[in-house]
Amino acid sequence: MSQDIDQLLERLIRPEIRKLSAYHVPPASGLIKLDAMENPYALPEELTRAWLDSLRHVELNRYPDPACGALKESLRKVMAIPEGMDILLGNGSDELIQLIALALQGPDRVLLAPEPSFVMYRMIALATGLRYQGVPLRQEDFSLDPDAMLAACRQHQPAVIFVAYPNNPTANLYPEEELRRLIEAAPGLVVVDEAYAPFAEASLLSCLGEYPNLLVMRTVSKLGLAGLRLGLLAGDPAWIAELEKLRLPYNINVLTQASAQFLLGHYEILEEQTARIRRDREVLYTQLAELDGIHVWPSRANFLLFRVPAGRAAAIHSGLQEAGVLIKQLHGSHPALADCLRVTVGSPEENHRFLEALQPLL
Ligand SMILES: *Cc1c(COP(=O)(O)O)cnc(C)c1O
Repeated sequence: MSQDIDQLLERLIRPEIRKLSAYHVPPASGLIKLDAMENPYALPEELTRAWLDSLRHVELNRYPDPACGALKESLRKVMAIPEGMDILLGNGSDELIQLIALALQGPDRVLLAPEPSFVMYRMIALATGLRYQGVPLRQEDFSLDPDAMLAACRQHQPAVIFVAYPNNPTANLYPEEELRRLIEAAPGLVVVDEAYAPFAEASLLSCLGEYPNLLVMRTVSKLGLAGLRLGLLAGDPAWIAELEKLRLPYNINVLTQASAQFLLGHYEILEEQTARIRRDREVLYTQLAELDGIHVWPSRANFLLFRVPAGRAAAIHSGLQEAGVLIKQLHGSHPALADCLRVTVGSPEENHRFLEALQPLL
C-alpha cells in the first residue's frame, strides 16, 4: 500500500514540488518568542472588550463581503494610499506574492530578487512554476549592488522583481534613488514589499503614479495584527484588475474583516506601540554592539541581524532556547548569513531576558 502511494506521488506531484520542503515554523510554547517579528504588546483591556463587542454583529453563517469595501477605505486612510490607486487584499501578503506569481508564471518566466531576502519569494516562485533568480547583495553591508542588478535584468529579463524595503533578514533600507533606477531599468514588474514600513518610516507608495511597472505591498502583520492575516497590494487599477481575477472570492474572512476594520479605527494605539519598538530597537542595538564577539548591523525594521564567533551560531541558538528564548537561526540558510542569527525587538523585559541568556553563551 505505502509502495503504491510512493509511486503515485512520484508520478503525479510535480517534480519541483517533490523537491521543496514545507515552510517550517518551530514550536514556541512556553518560550519568549523573538523569532517572527511579531509586535510583543497586547491591546489595552478596554479596547479588547470593545473589539469583542464589535464582533457580536458578525454573521458567521454568511460568506464574507467579497469586495471588503469598508475595510479598504480604512486601510487607504491609515496607510495613505495615493488617490487614483486601487488595492487588492490578501490573506497575508504571502498570498499576494502567490497571486502575482500565478499571474506571471509561464515557460522561462523569471522571478528575481536580491539575496539574501525573504524566503517566500523563492518558495512561491518554485511552487507556482517560475524560474527563481537571486542576485547577491554586497557581502559587507547587504547593500544593493546596482550593477549586478542591472546586469541580471539584462541577462534574465525577469517578469517580476521582488524587493523587500527594508530587507528581511538583513534589516537595511536601500536608498530610494537606487530603487528608482532599478524600477526604470526593469523590463517587467517591480514589487516593493513594505512589510516593515511602520519601523522604517520610508515608503515608495507616493511613487506609484510615476511608474507603470511598480506595485507596493503592505501588511498589518508586523504592525501588531499578525494573527488576522491581512496584506494589501496597491497600484494602478489596471494591474489590480488583472490580479483580482486570481483572488479567490472570500479570501478575507468575516472575523478578519470585522476585527481589522475595528482596530484600524484605533490606529493610534498601534502607532504608539511601533514607536516604542523603534526606540527599544536602538537600545537593544547598542547593548548587542557592546558585547564581545558580536557584530550587529543597523536596522530600519523591528529586528536585528547579528553575527556570532565562527561556528557558534547553532550552539548559541539552542542555548538560548534552553534558557527560554526563541530567535531565528540563519546560519546555513545562505552563504552571506554564515554565523548569523536574527532577533525580533520584543518588550524591554523580553529584550533583557534575551541579553541575559546570550551573555554566558559567548
Ligand atoms: C513577514 C514578511 C511578509 C509576510 O507578511 P504576511 O502579511 O504576514 O504574510 C512579507 N514580506 C516580508 C519581507 C516579510 O518579512
